Amino acid sequence: MELCLFVVPGEAGKRFNKFPGRKNHLPGDSQGCMGSFLNQKKQDRVQTIRKQMIELLDKREVSAREISQTLKIREKEVYAHLSHISRSVNAQRKKLIIIPAECLECGFVFEKRKRFTRPSRCPHCKSEHIQNPVYRID
Ligand SMILES: [Zn+2]
Repeated sequence: MELCLFVVPGEAGKRFNKFPGRKNHLPGDSQGCMGSFLNQKKQDRVQTIRKQMIELLDKREVSAREISQTLKIREKEVYAHLSHISRSVNAQRKKLIIIPAECLECGFVFEKRKRFTRPSRCPHCKSEHIQNPVYRID
């Protein structure tokens, strides 16, 4: 007999509306809480690292390697943070300045390079003696 209720349009509509809401509420909520709790911790860590990076960059020119050694994070992470920092300091009317990498053999400057990572070899003389780019906040 109960099954009949499902085919009554009004009742079916009600059930349909209620069901996904309740379903999301129970398991979804607890999972959501746990998820955001963990994300929050991760976020805090990220924020701390970025804050420390900004402090370093504010004081003097530093290379990604120096940052990674000072903050004990991987160089790869440094680059990821740098692109975020570049955007967030813009909001404070500051600027993340990139002093471009330079070829130590022929002096070629990698000025047009948009990415933060270090180029591996010089397009001019093919040398791999490339000076790391350095960064600072102005
Ligand atoms: Zn070169």
